[in-house]
Amino acid sequence: MRVLMVGAGYVGLVSAACFADFGHQVVCIDSDAGKIEALRGGKIPIYEPGLGELVSTNLRAGRLSFETDLKEAIADADVVFMAVGTPSRRGDGHADLSHVYAAARQIAGALRGFTVIVTKSTVPVGTGDEVERIIRETNPDADFAVVSNPEFLREGAAISDFKRPDRIVIGLEDERARAVMAEVYRPLYLNAAPIMYTARRSAELIKYAANAYLAMKITFINEMADLCEALDADVQDVARGIGLDQRIGSKFLHAGPGYGGSCFPKDTMALAKAAQDAASPVRLVEATVAINDSRKRAMARKVTAACGGEVRGKTVAVLGLTFKPNTDDMREAPSLALIQALQDGGARVRAYDPEGMEGARALLDGVTFGNSPYEIAESADALVIVTEWDAFRALDLDRIGKSMKTPVLVDLRNIYKQGEVEKYGFTYTSVGRPRPKRAA
Ligand code: NAD
Repeated sequence: MRVLMVGAGYVGLVSAACFADFGHQVVCIDSDAGKIEALRGGKIPIYEPGLGELVSTNLRAGRLSFETDLKEAIADADVVFMAVGTPSRRGDGHADLSHVYAAARQIAGALRGFTVIVTKSTVPVGTGDEVERIIRETNPDADFAVVSNPEFLREGAAISDFKRPDRIVIGLEDERARAVMAEVYRPLYLNAAPIMYTARRSAELIKYAANAYLAMKITFINEMADLCEALDADVQDVARGIGLDQRIGSKFLHAGPGYGGSCFPKDTMALAKAAQDAASPVRLVEATVAINDSRKRAMARKVTAACGGEVRGKTVAVLGLTFKPNTDDMREAPSLALIQALQDGGARVRAYDPEGMEGARALLDGVTFGNSPYEIAESADALVIVTEWDAFRALDLDRIGKSMKTPVLVDLRNIYKQGEVEKYGFTYTSVGRPRPKRAA
């Protein structure tokens, strides 16, 4: 199969590399010429474990190439995937579809022969209809079918998610597209990955419903964590106790500072907005959005309380900036709102992240970036763990505690145990866990 991938971001680049690895002939294009230039030179613009190797193997094998000219690349393509960004539209929270529609116009103008055009970007219900209309309007003679094939990969585990997905969802209205999509995903079919065919609008909604459900699950356990703090119970035990129920499942039940990232915040908001427009509001999702927003401020209050009720003039060291480990993605990371709130309260902030500092520098003013957890903790008044990178799970707490001005540790990911940390003289605060009972 000859595949054209439009967009070389987190989804486009991973998908292109994996399709090439399946044996397809893949051209990946991006409107960012600098990105394409870098990729041609074997430089991967994002941090995603295993991606560099996968890209270079397939470049060398001649199955993957990077181009900027869509017209040329589309000529031989059997299938064109759109994996462009769909961020929140400024001001109203709807999905901004301008990149999708621009890509559709560019594709339309270059089509030759029957081509399947697939939306891999996360788009609201009805976007496929509009893409179809745009293509028909731009090129009335074009022979094409528009398919929805939402992507469910997780950053940090993107390659294994793509190659071993829980399911592949394909929404189509034109039966001619079925054989093409079956051929594209044949290698996964051989791996026994369930492929679900459905109507295009249902496929579009499946992606939003999945993300909203996961965001709700996280938000639920975060509220349980608050309740545990109020009632002196342990949220990790509650999570385990409910997660062992197979109807509930143990994933996405880790209490923390609230969800962030490039998908959940914008997708929950876009779903809520689209549902309001359809006069069928999704109130659980609306509540999830509001609770998650207020949680960011609550985390800043937690840090302030751990610092004795005041952060003015104090130095707070923040460990972990990306929205989750194993990515360099800083989009909507909880660290951003937390750091802003601490700075607003008068704190000096130092930060360290294994992969996210380059992206963070562009988003955070007045933060001092260090080269290691030990460097930022030195003489600090508090150390706050915001992202649970593996490298933070076995810190030399003795060394850190001794180097800090006051050994205060705020663990927003519950990666340490209270007793263990207190042995080193720390005052320890975590999320939804009771203070240990003191001997009388
Ligand atoms: P991204 O911002 O990392 O990448 C998008 C890329 O598209 C950019 O490199 C941009 O330059 C390029 N682009 C934009 N318009 C273009 C055009 N007309 N022609 C060529 N290139 C163009 O975005 P992403 O994180 O990869 O997300 C892409 C889509 O996939 C979004 O809809 C997102 O919601 C969805 N998604 C993302 C993830 C994730 O984990 N990041 C997971 C599942 C689904």
